Amino acid sequence: MGIIIDLTKAQAITKDRLRAERAPLLTALDVQYQRAQEDGRDTTIIISEKQRLRDVTKLADKASEYEGLFRESAIAFRKASPKLTGMCLNCGIKTKGAYCSADCREDWERIQRMKRIGRRHDERRN
Ligand SMILES: [Zn+2]
Repeated sequence: MGIIIDLTKAQAITKDRLRAERAPLLTALDVQYQRAQEDGRDTTIIISEKQRLRDVTKLADKASEYEGLFRESAIAFRKASPKLTGMCLNCGIKTKGAYCSADCREDWERIQRMKRIGRRHDERRN
Protein backbone atom coordinates (compact mmCIF):
# COMPACT_ATOMS: atom_id res chain seq x y z
CA MET A 1 0.00 0.00 0.00
CA GLY A 2 2.61 2.49 1.14
CA ILE A 3 4.70 1.79 -1.90
CA ILE A 4 1.84 2.60 -4.27
CA ILE A 5 1.14 5.95 -2.62
CA ASP A 6 4.83 6.83 -2.63
CA LEU A 7 5.19 5.96 -6.28
CA THR A 8 2.24 8.19 -7.18
CA LYS A 9 3.85 11.01 -5.25
CA ALA A 10 7.20 10.35 -6.86
CA GLN A 11 5.58 10.40 -10.29
CA ALA A 12 3.97 13.76 -9.59
CA ILE A 13 7.25 15.21 -8.32
CA THR A 14 9.14 13.83 -11.29
CA LYS A 15 6.61 15.23 -13.73
CA ASP A 16 6.85 18.68 -12.16
CA ARG A 17 10.60 18.51 -12.41
CA LEU A 18 10.49 17.38 -16.03
CA ARG A 19 8.06 20.15 -16.94
CA ALA A 20 10.33 22.75 -15.37
CA GLU A 21 13.40 21.32 -17.10
CA ARG A 22 11.87 21.11 -20.51
CA ALA A 23 10.28 24.59 -20.51
CA PRO A 24 13.44 26.45 -21.62
CA LEU A 25 14.20 23.68 -24.14
CA LEU A 26 10.76 24.03 -25.68
CA THR A 27 11.19 27.79 -25.86
CA ALA A 28 14.54 27.34 -27.63
CA LEU A 29 12.93 24.91 -30.07
CA ASP A 30 10.13 27.39 -30.77
CA VAL A 31 12.77 29.95 -31.76
CA GLN A 32 14.58 27.39 -33.92
CA TYR A 33 11.29 26.45 -35.54
CA GLN A 34 10.45 30.03 -36.39
CA ARG A 35 13.91 30.68 -37.86
CA ALA A 36 13.79 27.49 -39.88
CA GLN A 37 10.42 28.50 -41.29
CA GLU A 38 11.67 31.96 -42.17
CA ASP A 39 14.69 30.45 -43.93
CA GLY A 40 12.52 27.85 -45.62
CA ARG A 41 14.42 24.99 -43.95
CA ASP A 42 13.02 21.60 -43.04
CA THR A 43 11.33 21.66 -39.64
CA THR A 44 10.73 17.92 -39.29
CA ILE A 45 13.50 17.42 -36.75
CA ILE A 46 12.45 20.38 -34.65
CA ILE A 47 8.82 19.24 -34.62
CA SER A 48 9.76 15.72 -33.53
CA GLU A 49 12.08 17.07 -30.82
CA LYS A 50 9.23 19.17 -29.50
CA GLN A 51 6.91 16.18 -29.49
CA ARG A 52 9.50 14.11 -27.68
CA LEU A 53 9.85 16.75 -24.99
CA ARG A 54 6.07 16.83 -24.58
CA ASP A 55 6.01 13.06 -24.24
CA VAL A 56 8.69 13.05 -21.56
CA THR A 57 6.12 13.32 -18.77
CA LYS A 58 4.21 10.30 -20.07
CA LEU A 59 7.18 8.14 -19.12
CA ALA A 60 6.66 9.07 -15.49
CA ASP A 61 3.10 7.75 -15.66
CA LYS A 62 4.23 4.52 -17.24
CA ALA A 63 6.85 3.74 -14.62
CA SER A 64 5.79 0.97 -12.27
CA GLU A 65 8.68 1.29 -9.86
CA TYR A 66 11.00 3.99 -8.54
CA GLU A 67 14.09 2.88 -10.30
CA GLY A 68 12.33 2.83 -13.65
CA LEU A 69 10.76 6.21 -13.03
CA PHE A 70 14.05 7.98 -12.63
CA ARG A 71 16.02 5.94 -15.10
CA GLU A 72 13.50 6.27 -17.93
CA SER A 73 12.91 9.97 -17.43
CA ALA A 74 16.66 10.61 -17.27
CA ILE A 75 17.23 8.67 -20.49
CA ALA A 76 14.37 10.45 -22.24
CA PHE A 77 15.79 13.78 -21.23
CA ARG A 78 19.27 13.03 -22.38
CA LYS A 79 17.79 11.94 -25.66
CA ALA A 80 15.56 14.97 -25.97
CA SER A 81 18.23 17.58 -25.45
CA PRO A 82 21.35 16.98 -27.49
CA LYS A 83 24.04 19.61 -27.19
CA LEU A 84 23.98 22.26 -29.89
CA THR A 85 27.54 22.79 -31.09
CA GLY A 86 26.84 24.44 -34.47
CA MET A 87 27.78 21.17 -36.13
CA CYS A 88 25.89 17.99 -36.86
CA LEU A 89 26.57 15.60 -33.97
CA ASN A 90 26.75 12.72 -36.39
CA CYS A 91 28.73 13.90 -39.42
CA GLY A 92 30.20 17.25 -38.35
CA ILE A 93 28.61 19.34 -41.11
CA LYS A 94 27.81 22.90 -40.08
CA THR A 95 24.18 23.14 -38.96
CA LYS A 96 22.09 25.24 -36.59
CA GLY A 97 20.36 22.27 -35.04
CA ALA A 98 21.93 19.25 -33.40
CA TYR A 99 21.82 17.26 -36.67
CA CYS A 100 21.95 18.20 -40.33
CA SER A 101 19.23 15.72 -41.31
CA ALA A 102 16.77 13.18 -39.97
CA ASP A 103 19.09 10.41 -41.19
CA CYS A 104 21.96 11.77 -39.15
CA ARG A 105 19.78 11.96 -36.08
CA GLU A 106 18.71 8.36 -36.50
CA ASP A 107 22.32 7.27 -36.91
CA TRP A 108 23.39 9.20 -33.85
CA GLU A 109 20.56 7.84 -31.72
CA ARG A 110 21.34 4.32 -32.84
CA ILE A 111 24.96 4.80 -31.76
CA GLN A 112 23.86 6.21 -28.40
CA ARG A 113 21.51 3.28 -27.89
CA MET A 114 24.29 0.83 -28.63
CA LYS A 115 26.54 2.62 -26.16
CA ARG A 116 23.83 2.45 -23.50
CA ILE A 117 23.28 -1.23 -24.03
CA GLY A 118 27.03 -1.75 -23.81
CA ARG A 119 27.19 0.19 -20.57
CA ARG A 120 24.33 -1.79 -19.05
CA HIS A 121 26.20 -4.91 -19.97
CA ASP A 122 29.29 -3.69 -18.13
CA GLU A 123 27.29 -2.79 -15.04
CA ARG A 124 25.86 -6.26 -14.86
CA ARG A 125 29.29 -7.80 -15.07
CA ASN A 126 30.74 -5.69 -12.26
ZN1 LIG B 1 24.90 15.09 -40.41
